[in-house]
Amino acid sequence: MSAAELTRFHAHEMAARLRAGDISSRELTDAHLTLAERQDHGLHAWLSVDRERALEEAETADLRIAAARGEGGGALEALHPLLGVPVALKDLVSVRGGRCTAGSRILEGYRAPYDAHITERLRDVGAVILGKTNMDEFAMGSSTEHSAFGPTANPWDLGRVPGGSSGGSAAAVAAYHAPLGIGTDTGGSIRQPAALTGTVGMKPTYGRVSRYGIVAFASSLDQVGPFARDARDAAALLHAIAGRDERDSTSSPVPVPDHLLHLPSSDDEAAGVLRGKRLGLPREYFVAGMEPGVEARVREAVAALEAAGAIVEDVSLPHTDYGLATYYIVAPAEASANLARYDGIRYGPRLGDGRDVLADYLATRGRGFGAEVKRRVMLGTYALSAGYYDAFYLKAQKVRTLIKADFDALWAEGIDALVAPTSPTVAFRFGARMADPVAMYLSDACTLPVNMAGLPGISVPAGLSDGLPVGLQLIGAPWSEASLLELSRGYEAITAASDWRALEPADLARLDDPATASPPGV
Ligand code: GLN
Repeated sequence: MSAAELTRFHAHEMAARLRAGDISSRELTDAHLTLAERQDHGLHAWLSVDRERALEEAETADLRIAAARGEGGGALEALHPLLGVPVALKDLVSVRGGRCTAGSRILEGYRAPYDAHITERLRDVGAVILGKTNMDEFAMGSSTEHSAFGPTANPWDLGRVPGGSSGGSAAAVAAYHAPLGIGTDTGGSIRQPAALTGTVGMKPTYGRVSRYGIVAFASSLDQVGPFARDARDAAALLHAIAGRDERDSTSSPVPVPDHLLHLPSSDDEAAGVLRGKRLGLPREYFVAGMEPGVEARVREAVAALEAAGAIVEDVSLPHTDYGLATYYIVAPAEASANLARYDGIRYGPRLGDGRDVLADYLATRGRGFGAEVKRRVMLGTYALSAGYYDAFYLKAQKVRTLIKADFDALWAEGIDALVAPTSPTVAFRFGARMADPVAMYLSDACTLPVNMAGLPGISVPAGLSDGLPVGLQLIGAPWSEASLLELSRGYEAITAASDWRALEPADLARLDDPATASPPGV
């Protein structure tokens, strides 16, 4: 089997072939590493690739599969579907001994002294970690252009951004450098890049996945979640990483449903799930500034769901408009506290001559942080300062409760999920929003309220507008991930024959050309 064929499989197909003995994890891992090494000059999805460690993990996986085969009696079937399957990690997930920059100069040279909880879980199930992916500095951004190491390109058009902040993982999965990726979503950073790269990306319920060992941005909003090329693969990755971890007191003891590993494989069965489901269409999510092509794809998707037997109802989330303003109080406030630890003493490089602690601190943070991070630290410090706390932070927390109450009212009425656009626009050109922070912030108008309310949300590909991917967002009640993934799987089933499903990112061929330029500033 050629390397190109190996990288085209979905993770569940890889799992089946590994068990059947058609392929080895070593071959599979090598094929992905080789593709990433060959193409990344034009994509810049990766900040580090660890070939040696990945191949060792692959060999261990192959031994585990061989042992299960020898054992017989259902041992092969009992293996986790991620055993031997490659995965890309956003560069804010700690891997013992490895780099972990969070896209920032201030963590250059830092090596993680321990594994994140999700790294341990991925090792337990036997997934193969290929390396670490590019991201906006400390996950602040919607384009990956705020990475201190230069932006990532979108495989659909190398002149455009892949979204952010988890743009590296999204681009790696879209370009077949990995079948699976890990991202974090504080205000949209998994769903929005998934939408812009034509991949599946899920932000789980707050508390579903432990944040232990994940570089913190805004602790009451951050959630770790999967990228994949279909709903079944996203479900399997979520299954591997979810669940209670006593080292993160906000991680929940709510059981992780095994159903995540058993989404229907037959399209008929998958489509059947849609019948009778009550889907709400929140009118506030069809915002001004939404591109007509995006709106058209979302409305077509809604029509397809309706034709498959779902009941679509117009609903209202009246406090949606306040989502952006309150998020940009709460998230910077928490960030300003979380980022206080980067003082030049505990992590990464230290600038200055060591004679004046304050001068060294200012020099280290002044040079170590980029412009967007400084903007957030200033906003957050201001919002929390004496005299302003009540007017801004406390007020924002109260409005946050109202945003959550809007959603709660719909779940109480029996709505199964909400259907909305993920991003008001398709992928934009490099530079288009860099001069105007508010324009960048507006990229997440449709995703931020979901984080403010702590809910699960997923973005699934819903066709193209002007040749660029459009994402359909599904939002559910707390802990409804399995049902959102089942709906997503149903939507995949009813659109399985659509022409756009057969298309690959248009600029993949350019990535194979060594003459293709790197993204600007890399
Ligand atoms: N774009 C939003 C921000 O810049 C959300 C980022 C995220 O989800 N990490 O804060």
